[in-house]
Amino acid sequence: MEIHDPSDLSPLYFAENNSSKDGNVSVNYVSPSISIGIEDVAHGRGLIATKDIEEGELLFVTSPTISVDHNTAKQILTEQNVPVSKLEEAIIDLLIENMYKCLQEDVNAILNSFLALMGSKSDVEKEIYSMETLLGQNDDCLFSRNEVEGISKSHLKNIILKNAFGPDFLNYEKIAKHWDEREEESDQCQFVPNLLGIFPLAAMLNHSCSGNAVRTFSNGIMIVHASKTITANEEILWSYIPSTKEFMGRRRTLKKLHKFVCMCNKCSIESKQLKRDILPLTLRNSIDESSAWNTRLLDVENCDEDTKRMLCTTFLSMEETVFASASLSTDVKHMLRTDFTNFHFNFFNCMLSSLGQCSHPVQIRNVQDMILKVATHLHFSFVFSNNASTEHLSLLHLCYDLANSIHRNNEDKSNSITKVRFWTEQMKRTHQIRYGKMGDDVEKIRRLLVHTKSVLRQRDGMAAFNFL
Ligand SMILES: [Zn+2]
Repeated sequence: MEIHDPSDLSPLYFAENNSSKDGNVSVNYVSPSISIGIEDVAHGRGLIATKDIEEGELLFVTSPTISVDHNTAKQILTEQNVPVSKLEEAIIDLLIENMYKCLQEDVNAILNSFLALMGSKSDVEKEIYSMETLLGQNDDCLFSRNEVEGISKSHLKNIILKNAFGPDFLNYEKIAKHWDEREEESDQCQFVPNLLGIFPLAAMLNHSCSGNAVRTFSNGIMIVHASKTITANEEILWSYIPSTKEFMGRRRTLKKLHKFVCMCNKCSIESKQLKRDILPLTLRNSIDESSAWNTRLLDVENCDEDTKRMLCTTFLSMEETVFASASLSTDVKHMLRTDFTNFHFNFFNCMLSSLGQCSHPVQIRNVQDMILKVATHLHFSFVFSNNASTEHLSLLHLCYDLANSIHRNNEDKSNSITKVRFWTEQMKRTHQIRYGKMGDDVEKIRRLLVHTKSVLRQRDGMAAFNFL
């Protein structure tokens, strides 16, 4: 499949699993505004902007050069009765087998694409790190027989652990449920042609906790847009972990999973701020606890009143001590606010569920206004440091629904319509950054909104609230 218009990817996003019988279509596109760079990158090699890039511009589209086909995996693993707990490992093993087959059969183009991720002798370095090689289109013999024979299955596993991508929005538990025919869980599973794949070009991207690129998947193909304006010579970066964790949480996760200490812009600013002890200790402990509350809060019906009260008090005291503080700049506040996204979402969930107990319209209105006010702050923080991320879209759907609900029940509609227009515009714009402009076709954008709304609701627990 060819990409004719990089600003309108509707043929990719709305293809109804119409791919060939084996489920895989190969699509590759690289913007002329990016290249692979060695100098001035966060680590090793990276992708660099060769000219100024606007937010929402398409950076690249890439199919995995090697992957585990969904149907084949389903057949093999259900026959073997692999339990859910071992599914991830079993799928990794299938990918190792596929890669190992390439090694033995000398399938050069594919072999080059994933061996490039291990690095090699300097005389072929240029060729190894070319777009052609990374996209699996270089048939030359880049690695000697000796080099290839020296590669063991544990080397291949290492490549996978560091570089492979699984399907977005899905976890192995959902996939297993889908395979079990008694469960009707998640139709999305049917449309995922690959369960795990190596995308060597994407593997070139380095990490930042506040990146400038956002990836989505459609039919197993990875699509990457700029989530911020990027200037020439700036590096393209994204986060390897959910970037809405707080500073210490991010540090721990990156160290454990990726074996490095992050020195990104956001981390260096936040570590300086934290040394000044901006968060009182009691508050910090409560915030740590709030992640433990999260699970219970996803099911607001079963969350006890004490937990809800504790969460709300802690949240409001954080708003007061941290975000109302005059000693922090707005930029720092923006950065810190997204760190507490889960905490915010917990708070929203609690407040939304409390609406059920409000009987007086004024009371309802006050709670709604408060949620929308806090959510507005969080929205602008996302625009600043995690624009068009999954959590950001989730928040926008919440605000849009809330603004509409206020508007419907409002006597004086002149003020509330302004809010509805504002959130509609924010939601459209953010979707266009994440998915491309779609030729500015409102109908297509609307279809994308429906998609993200259903997907994201399942993740953040806001499904519990009925806005009507
Ligand atoms: Zn960082």
